[in-house]
Amino acid sequence: MAGQVYLDWAASAPLCDESAVEMRPYLAPGAEFEHGGNANSLHSVGRKAFSALEDARARVARSVGAGRPDDIVFTSGATEANNAAVKGIVAACTKRAVQQGRRGFVPHLIASAIEHDSVLAPVRELKAQGCEATLLKPDRNGFITPAAFQAALRENTVLASVQMANNEVGTIQPIGELAAIAHGAGALFHADAAQALGKIAIDLHGIGVDAASFSAHKAGGPQGTGALFLKARTPFEASLTGGGQEQGRRSGTQNICGAVGFAAACEAARAMQEQECRRQTALRDRLYERLAAHDCVMPSVAVEPGSARFLPNVVNVCVAGFESETLILKLDRAGFAVAGGSACSSQSLKPSHVLRALGISDDRALGSLRVSWGRSTTAADIDAFTTAFFACLAAGGRSAAWSS
Ligand code: PMP
Repeated sequence: MAGQVYLDWAASAPLCDESAVEMRPYLAPGAEFEHGGNANSLHSVGRKAFSALEDARARVARSVGAGRPDDIVFTSGATEANNAAVKGIVAACTKRAVQQGRRGFVPHLIASAIEHDSVLAPVRELKAQGCEATLLKPDRNGFITPAAFQAALRENTVLASVQMANNEVGTIQPIGELAAIAHGAGALFHADAAQALGKIAIDLHGIGVDAASFSAHKAGGPQGTGALFLKARTPFEASLTGGGQEQGRRSGTQNICGAVGFAAACEAARAMQEQECRRQTALRDRLYERLAAHDCVMPSVAVEPGSARFLPNVVNVCVAGFESETLILKLDRAGFAVAGGSACSSQSLKPSHVLRALGISDDRALGSLRVSWGRSTTAADIDAFTTAFFACLAAGGRSAAWSS
């Protein structure tokens, strides 16, 4: 909305200029011969589409340190990539174990308790089908400690899935260390990198994960596009079967416009990542400091100023005397778009599973607010938000300040 200060980038970032510019030719009327066609067709239009797709794949791969472009499988986003990774790797590992003579093999998988629902739901489905599953509780600030992770591994663990960065409170996990521990126990490792993309430097090859998920729109690309990184020779059974596109790992005619926009957004984000990380970390620290000074506000996690262990663009607080929904609507009327808990579950009035896993009481969690921003957000936007937020608090809620 015109005049609205958008502070919900963790739900979806605005399309960046670089992405819009590169996608425009694909969206122009009459573009069918220059920028259209099916990347799997043999004629010249198809070959041109194929070359645009492969160029986008190489650019995305380079941006996230994937090594081989072929290890990038384009998907409709991180939800699809998470589902495909969890179900596809567990299915293939189970089949392999049986082929190796381990009849009756029951696979075990590990996920952190603060994963996005698009990891937790497939884990629950697999459990209902007879798999063993461990949901690993984080510490009070949302970290999965290497010791807890090590202790959860079993002889039959085939896969562990731990997100690179949390979408609600911004905790960044020690993925390299966790992946090495998983490999030491013979398990594969998947990381949901949807919130990390564009915010922190990602070097998939360096950290040694077997699979990772991405959503373009979290980093300024188009919605409905993303990728599954699948390291060569990782056991995997495709969920979407059909025409055999994406080397049989994800059937369906590829979204070339989306892939090109995704690649442009990845490169733009990577080019400004260091500088933006520094600038946005300062915004985060300033906002936490100012909000925490109010006795109705409790930060959901303890973020040390300057800390690189939390995303630079997310602040999450619990507000005494308010339900998130009331505050969101009040702030919306005041011209600020923010979120409470996770946008994906904002239809429900349940406390966030992430805040619960951190040990925050339901009463507090129901008053949680997430403020998130990006490259076009200014210090003045954050200051204006702070003023509007305090005005909402002054206008009253349902009870007094937190008692502890
Ligand atoms: N994982 C994380 C950590 C997310 O924040 C999101 C989006 N909220 C997803 C996965 C799913 O992404 P998408 O809705 O774009 O498929």
